[in-house]
Amino acid sequence: MDFVTPHISTLAPSITLAVTSQAAKMKKEGIDVCSFGAGEPDMDTPAHIKEACIKALAEGKTKYTASAGLLELREAICAKLAADNQLQYTPDLLSVNCGAKHSCFNAILATCGPGDEVVIPSPYWTSYPDMVRIAGAIPVMVQTKQENGWKMTPEEFEAAMTPSTKMVILNSPSNPTGAVYTREELEQIGEIAASEDILILSDEIYEKLVYEDTEHVSIASLSRELKELTIVVNGFSKAYSMTGWRIGYTATANKKIAEAIDTIQSHTTSAPATFAQYGALAALQGDQNIIEDMRQEFDLRRGYMMRRFQTLTNLSVVEPKGAFYFLVNIGRMGIKSVNFAEKLLSRSHVAVVPGIAFGADDTIRFSYACSLDVIKKGLDRFEEFVRSH
Ligand SMILES: *Cc1c(COP(=O)(O)O)cnc(C)c1O
Repeated sequence: MDFVTPHISTLAPSITLAVTSQAAKMKKEGIDVCSFGAGEPDMDTPAHIKEACIKALAEGKTKYTASAGLLELREAICAKLAADNQLQYTPDLLSVNCGAKHSCFNAILATCGPGDEVVIPSPYWTSYPDMVRIAGAIPVMVQTKQENGWKMTPEEFEAAMTPSTKMVILNSPSNPTGAVYTREELEQIGEIAASEDILILSDEIYEKLVYEDTEHVSIASLSRELKELTIVVNGFSKAYSMTGWRIGYTATANKKIAEAIDTIQSHTTSAPATFAQYGALAALQGDQNIIEDMRQEFDLRRGYMMRRFQTLTNLSVVEPKGAFYFLVNIGRMGIKSVNFAEKLLSRSHVAVVPGIAFGADDTIRFSYACSLDVIKKGLDRFEEFVRSH
């Protein structure tokens, strides 16, 4: 008997997690795998954050918090949004969730339902379309072009819009492309969204990881109107290397949306683990230089990988301006992404994520959340694989 409800049975498990687990299995068997599959920083969570969590446990902070999260933490997040993003919110407009993934999901579930269309620039973060489907709404993927840096143009956005368009999802800096939208580009997209009262889900989880003179701009900060339409999503996983802590948040100027998100959360997960919230509070209140150290380390790896990729004539890449990924175009090699990734893993022991997970079957994704030693060895193997193919 198939008991799974129809709109859920069409979903597939996250492919990014599947590759990581296959590589992990090979490693366990003693195989020396160079893994570029990770979607999380390889650095440890800073000590003062862990200590704050341990202290919270010792002090008995082990009971429920408000469903929207600790007031103190929401106040600290308000201060962060004001200082970093020029966004003023009050704590009642925020919800602290079980990771930014959960934040995206709550935001979509609160606002999108049957008949609603959600515009998603492709290549996209693997979970967005399925979150939209779980909500019963319809994902509308917009194919972006490599020559545009994998960014959705205003024309492409307009062409995808229908009277049913309810929301557009922006993820800048982007996983998997590393693309970062400029202020001007966000103004153009924002103007179109505002003209039709389309909500914007702005996933800004990689805001701290931008390179060279690239600037992160929150689309919500561009005008009063755009602030009203935007649900900002951010969290602690990437900036503070806290993926396992499961703390993210939403911020919206729309009180009704904020209440709906809180209601969903209060009936499902409730707030994240209390002591994890205290860790997040310490992350915001503590030394922020740790982020810069991590950013510089990523930038070093990014530069090295870019130089290596440029020597491979069968492939092409757009230099990433943010996050910690390279989306490599393998289209000229005449092999699709899953096949490519499987062969690369079994023959050369190099793990990457097939681009089909991001709606881009002619690409593979390399994460550089791994040491420079692994990167060097892995790219030597990769180069040999590509040349012999
Ligand atoms: C990692 C990631 C997230 C969320 O991470 P959490 O661990 O759930 O906080 C959200 N969006 C994108 C694009 C990501 O890569």
